[in-house]
Amino acid sequence: MNKNKFYITNAIPYVNAKPHIGHALEFVESDTIARFHRQMGEEVLLLCGADENAIKNVQAAEQEKITVRQLVDRNSRLFEELAKKLNVDFDVFQRGSSEQHHKSSQKLWELCYKNGDIYKKQYTGLYCIGCELFYERHELNEKGECLEHPGKKLEEVSEENYFFKLSKYKKGIEKILKSNKIRIVPENRKNEALSFIKVGLKDISISRSNKRAKNWGVSVPGDTSQKMYVWFDALNIYQSGIGFDSDEKMYKKWWPANLHVIGKGILRFHAIYWIAFLLSAKLSLPESIFVHEYITVNGQKMSKTLGNVIDPLELIHEYGSNPLRYYLLRHISPFADGDFSKDKFEEIYNADLANGLGNLIARVAKLCENSNYVQMGSESRVSGHLISIEEYSDAISQFRFNDALSFVWKKIAALDKFINDEKPWDLFKNEDKRLKSVLSHSIDQIQEIAALLEPFLPETAEKIEKQFQGPEIKSQKPLFPRL
Ligand SMILES: [Zn+2]
Repeated sequence: MNKNKFYITNAIPYVNAKPHIGHALEFVESDTIARFHRQMGEEVLLLCGADENAIKNVQAAEQEKITVRQLVDRNSRLFEELAKKLNVDFDVFQRGSSEQHHKSSQKLWELCYKNGDIYKKQYTGLYCIGCELFYERHELNEKGECLEHPGKKLEEVSEENYFFKLSKYKKGIEKILKSNKIRIVPENRKNEALSFIKVGLKDISISRSNKRAKNWGVSVPGDTSQKMYVWFDALNIYQSGIGFDSDEKMYKKWWPANLHVIGKGILRFHAIYWIAFLLSAKLSLPESIFVHEYITVNGQKMSKTLGNVIDPLELIHEYGSNPLRYYLLRHISPFADGDFSKDKFEEIYNADLANGLGNLIARVAKLCENSNYVQMGSESRVSGHLISIEEYSDAISQFRFNDALSFVWKKIAALDKFINDEKPWDLFKNEDKRLKSVLSHSIDQIQEIAALLEPFLPETAEKIEKQFQGPEIKSQKPLFPRL
C-alpha cells in the first residue's frame, strides 16, 4: 500500500433539503484535515458527494411537485456550491444517481451475494424514513419514535426483501473495533458501536420493493422488482467515487480510505454495516473514522418547525467564508455539541479576526511601510517545518481543531506583545539599528502564522503570504473589516 497517500471522505449527505450549517461544519473539518496532510507532502484525495437514492428525496420531490431527478439535481448542486464557497478543496464529488455509481454498487452486491450473504425473506418492521433505517422496538422511545426524530411516526413495512447476513459478522467486527484495527475517534463513539454489537446483530433488509422505492434508486442485480436499500449503495459512494468497478488503477491507488469523517447520527452505518459489507465482499477496510457532533442554534436543536435552520450560504454571502470556517473550527467543539448564534459569531469575528489577527497584520505592514523597510534574503514559505510543532500537529492529528487554532492565537498574542515591548516606532525615530531585526522577526512570525493558518483559513493565509512577500511590504485594506 502506498504509505504516502491519504484518502479522506466527507460523509455523504441526503439531499432532500438544502444544506444547513451542520453540513458546513463537516465540510470544513474534512478540508482542514486534507489540507494538513497535503502540507505534510502526502498525496491526498478528498471525496465529497450526495446521497441521492433515499426515500426522503422521493418524498421531498412529491411535496414540491417536481420530479426526483429535478430535486436531486438542484439540491446536489447546492451542496457542491457550498463546498466550493467554503474553500473546500475536494477532488471528487460523487453523486448517487450517476450510472457509474449504480454499476459499482451492483458489483458490491454481487460480491456479497457470491459469498452467500444475501438471501430473500418476508419481513415486517418499523422504518424511520428520517434515518432510512429499520428499528427494533427496544431502540425507540416510550411513544415508539426514534431518538433522532422524536414526533415522527415510524412506518410499518411488510414486504419480501433481500437480507444481508449481518449476524455472521458480529464476532469479526467486534474484534476489529476492540483491537483498533479500525480506529474510531473519540473513544466514547467506539464504545457506543461496541455496545450496539453486544446487544446482538440481526440480519438487515437491504432492498425494498419498487413500489415503496417509487421506482427510484439502484436496481437489485437480477431482480427488476426491487431497489437497493439506500445505505447499501450510499456507503459505496466512497468506493464508486474512486473507480470501484470502473477504474481499477485509480481504485487500487486510493482504496482503502484512511479516514471517514461522519456525524454521530450515522455511526452504526459506518462502524458496523459498512465493515460487514466490505468483509463480505472481501475488500480492504478503512483505517479510521472520526465522529463529530451536532450544532445547536441559540441553544436549540435546528429544525424546520422551529424555523431556526441556519443557511451557511447566506452567512458566507454576508461575512465571507473564512470567518465562518474560523467559527466552526475554533468555537464548535469537535467532540461535543456546539452552539451557533449570530450574536456570538459577530462578537468573535470582531474580537479574534478584526482585532486579533487582522489588527496584527495591519500593524506590522504599516510599521514596515512607515520605516521604509526592505526585506532581504529568502522570505519563502515556511510550511515545511510546521509538522515539527508538536502542539499544533498533534492537535490536528487528533481532530482537536480548536486547540490547534488556540495555539496559533497564542502566537498572535505573543507577537503583539513583542511589538508593544520593542516599540519599533521609537526605534525608527531614534534611528536605532535594532529596528531591522525587530521587523524581520515580526515578518518571520507572520509568515509562520500564515502557514499555520493555511489548513484552517486558506484564503486568509494566502492573502497574508502575498502581502508579506517581496522586498517592500505595503499596507492593504483590512483582512477583516470591523462589523
Ligand atoms: Zn429517525
